[in-house]
Amino acid sequence: MELYSGRLGNVEYPIRAVEALSRRYACVHNKMEYLNIGDPVRLGFKTGGEVCRHAADAILKGGNGYAPSEGVAEARDAISSFYSRRGIRAPSQNIFITSGVSEALHFLYLSLFNEGDSILLPRPYYPLYQNLADLFSVKAEYYDLDEEGIPVMDKLKISQNTKAVVLTNPNNPFGSLMGERQVSEFRDAVFSSGAVLIADEIYSENVYGGKMSYSMKGCENGNIIVLGGISKACLVPGWRLGWAVFGNSPSLEHLKSNFVKLLQMRLSSPAPFQHALPRIIGDDSIYSGFNSQLAERAKAIEEKMGETSALSVNKISSAFYAFLKLNFDMKSAAFISTLIRKHGIVAVPGTGFGREGYIRIVFLEDKARLSAALDTIISEAEASL
Ligand code: PLP
Repeated sequence: MELYSGRLGNVEYPIRAVEALSRRYACVHNKMEYLNIGDPVRLGFKTGGEVCRHAADAILKGGNGYAPSEGVAEARDAISSFYSRRGIRAPSQNIFITSGVSEALHFLYLSLFNEGDSILLPRPYYPLYQNLADLFSVKAEYYDLDEEGIPVMDKLKISQNTKAVVLTNPNNPFGSLMGERQVSEFRDAVFSSGAVLIADEIYSENVYGGKMSYSMKGCENGNIIVLGGISKACLVPGWRLGWAVFGNSPSLEHLKSNFVKLLQMRLSSPAPFQHALPRIIGDDSIYSGFNSQLAERAKAIEEKMGETSALSVNKISSAFYAFLKLNFDMKSAAFISTLIRKHGIVAVPGTGFGREGYIRIVFLEDKARLSAALDTIISEAEASL
């Protein structure tokens, strides 16, 4: 008898997997540059004092018990108001608090799919979507994003067997942003196929190069589930607080009750942070300081990439990722391995996101260090031309 499950045989999370190689080389380099994980706090950004005080107050006021499975009522109301200020009707009873978008995704896959069902993912994708498909024996199919990180609509094929389609806007790994018409065209195509649209909007408040088009706006009764959270926008990824907002569609009722069963089987996302949430997301001005720093770095990357023919990058409008295209003939994993071994720079090969010929960097490092790391990446790429 084998004392383990075979389920995980195919599963590997590439963003952390590169760290195995980097650990082997950590003793060779004075300091490693970790440009692989999208955690602003790990890379030196400070969570706002007010945000921390709200959490401390919640703890001191005794909000330390288990939270209700669906989430603390006032926090669900605050999320409802957050969407209402953006012109979206999202009643609190359709909002469920989860331990980040990650947990919401786990529970959605479990609530929605039987083994062998199909999900349509963007390619490149955020790797967790693929990992969950592998874990739960869901068949992953793909639609392509173009070089600007926008879905290629004339190649979007939603088959009869597709139960759900994932849209990541703003996008990881491209840092791109879809316009309002692009979002509505995509959404209409999904709705007319009968599939559920899962809209991962974790970066909705980290937009600096355009205007966010919320996919639920104007279609609150559709087969749509929006995922959001405060990990990134409020610089608190360790708090594990996100949410799923279900569209008001009768077709989602059974799925929703499956989802609630899973919420009830586990203990809820940490209660003090849920109690603090209304005061944190009640103020829409809190995102701007972080976003202006991201905008500066995005511009610096675009400028640097404009000066070399070895690498190129799309217009970066959101989040804190750059998906660099390798304009030379080398596998992305080999290039990453060179960067780690020779320079101590850790980034993720495009293959981890389902697209060869690219590498993804996180641009949260201190500006001077980021600039030095980019220069090294460029000179290594130019040497490979
Ligand atoms: N979705 C995308 C596209 C992400 O990039 C990430 C984190 O990097 C997540 C979801 C996970 O977010 P959370 O911290 O809310 O689980």
